[in-house]
Amino acid sequence: MNRVNVMRPWLGDEEVAAVAEAIRSGWVAQGPRVAAFEARFAAAMEVPHAIATSSCTTALHLALVVAGVGPGDDVVVPSFSFIATANAAVYVDARPVFADVDLATGNLTRDTVEAALTPATRAVIVVDQGGVPVDLDPIRDLCDPRGIVVIEDAACGAGSTYRGRPVGATAEITAWSFHPRKIITTGEGGMVTTGRDDWAGRARRLREHAMSVSAADRHASVLAPAEEYAEVGFNYRMTDLQAAMGLVQLDRLPEIVARRRALADVYAKQLADIPGLRPVADPAWGTGNFQSFWVEVEPEYPLGRESLLAHLAAADISARRGIMAAHHQPPYRHLTPAAGLPVTDRLTDHTLILPLFHELTESDQERVIAALRGPV
Ligand SMILES: *Cc1c(COP(=O)(O)O)cnc(C)c1O
Repeated sequence: MNRVNVMRPWLGDEEVAAVAEAIRSGWVAQGPRVAAFEARFAAAMEVPHAIATSSCTTALHLALVVAGVGPGDDVVVPSFSFIATANAAVYVDARPVFADVDLATGNLTRDTVEAALTPATRAVIVVDQGGVPVDLDPIRDLCDPRGIVVIEDAACGAGSTYRGRPVGATAEITAWSFHPRKIITTGEGGMVTTGRDDWAGRARRLREHAMSVSAADRHASVLAPAEEYAEVGFNYRMTDLQAAMGLVQLDRLPEIVARRRALADVYAKQLADIPGLRPVADPAWGTGNFQSFWVEVEPEYPLGRESLLAHLAAADISARRGIMAAHHQPPYRHLTPAAGLPVTDRLTDHTLILPLFHELTESDQERVIAALRGPV
C-alpha cells in the first residue's frame, strides 16, 4: 500500500518551463516577472497594490512597519496560528497580546479582540486560519474608530472569499504566503497587498533597502541614476524565478480551490455519521479554500487525538496535529493571559489535519475515511 501524504503542492511541466525560461532570459533576481506577478495577483485579489516579498513572515514585518507599529505598542494576535504571526510583532519591538479564537472557525472575533485591547493597542493581526475567512467587518467596526490598524494574515487564504469577494480585498493591508504548505507556491515567497498608496510605496521601497530607484530600474537603464536610501530598509525581495512559478500557480488557483472544496465536501458528508469527529466548515460569511482540513476529535470518538494519529500512521496515512498555539512556546509562555486561552487550548490539543491536496485520489481519500471509521 502506498503512503497517503497529508499534503503535496500541485506542480507540473508548466512551472518547469516558466522557471527555465526565466533562467534563459538572464534575469533571475527581482525583475519583470515579479512585476507581472504583482499585477496579476492584485487583479485576482481585487486590491489596488501588491508588493512581492521573500515570505509571508517578511510581508507581515513590512505591514507592521508601514502601519507605524513600534516600541511600546501592543499588537493583538491569535496564539492559535503559526508562530510567525506573533513573531512579526516582536520584530518591530511591539508586544504581542494573545486573544482567543472562535471554536467553529479557529479565528479571532470582535469579542475576543475586544477582550484583549489595552490602552497601548496599535494593531490587530487577524488570520484566515487554515483558509477559513475571518469575519473582518465587525473587527474593523471595533478597531477603526479607535485608530487601531487591522492587518490580515492571509498566509493560508488565497482563493477563500469573504462576503462574495476574495479575502483581503477589503482589508487595510494583507500578508500572503507562497510556501509549499499553502494553497499556491513559489517555493518560498510572500506578498503584501493594500489599498493605501502611501503604505504600498513605502513597503515597495523598504523591501529593497529603502532604495529610491529599484534595482530593476537601475539595471534596465544604460546610465544608472544615483539612488538614495531614505531610511533603513531590508532585503525582502522575491526572485524572478519564484515569480515565474507564481504566475503559473496563480492560473491554477481556481482549479485548486474547486478540487479542494470537492474533496472537503466528501470528507464532510462521510464524517457526518461518525460520532465525535467535527470537521471544519464554511462560516456564514464566506467560503474557505480548505488549505487545512482539520477535524476536532471530541470525547464521543473512541480514540483521543494522539491515538487516532497513531492509528492512521499504522495504516500508512500521514495526518498532522492541528494548528499550534504560540503561547505554549518558550518565547511566549510569559504572555499567556491571566484568563488563559481555553478555546485555543481545546483546538490545539484536540484537532488533527487530514490529507487533502489537489492530487489526492478518491481511493486514497476512501482509505482515510475507512481508517477513521475503523475504531467506531
Ligand atoms: C505559514 C504561515 C505564515 C508564514 O508564512 P511564510 O511564507 O512561511 O513566512 C504566517 N502566518 C500564517 C497564519 C501561516 O500559516
